[in-house]
Amino acid sequence: MLNEKVKNLINEQINKEMYSAYLYLDFSNYFGGKGLSGFAKWYRHQADEEMEHAFKFYDYLHDNGEKVELLAIAKPDKKLTNDIEVLKEGLKHEQYVTSLINTIYDAAFDVKDYRTMQFLDWFVKEQLEEEVNAEELINKYELFGKNEASLFELNKELGKRD
Ligand code: MG
Repeated sequence: MLNEKVKNLINEQINKEMYSAYLYLDFSNYFGGKGLSGFAKWYRHQADEEMEHAFKFYDYLHDNGEKVELLAIAKPDKKLTNDIEVLKEGLKHEQYVTSLINTIYDAAFDVKDYRTMQFLDWFVKEQLEEEVNAEELINKYELFGKNEASLFELNKELGKRD
């Protein structure tokens, strides 16, 4: 059995990861609507990954004999005004998710829940990767996004993600 606070935080994290999927689907929706199909595909892929994260937390609760409470998923609330702002919202969101993972880690640490700490190690590593990916996208857009020919190439490159 898990500590009540740890369990509740993990339960909430399922919802936050599903919200992340929803948010990135909205990003995909934004870029798809602009004809930037490579960016759209990249974020669609990102949305799939977020659902996988949600299921990892879901399975962890079940593996520990806990029942999951499925909460309402919020409507994506980021204003998608222009390309670079969308990419920056992505980075801000990943930094926020990192802080959520750290909060769960803190709670597990407080009650010497080594099992949960070890489970969370994967997410600690994953969040570094997510932040790096988001920063790279911003850098690439700042370098290549202003010129139509290079934006075309960048869009093509991002469309290769699978
Ligand atoms: Mg995630």
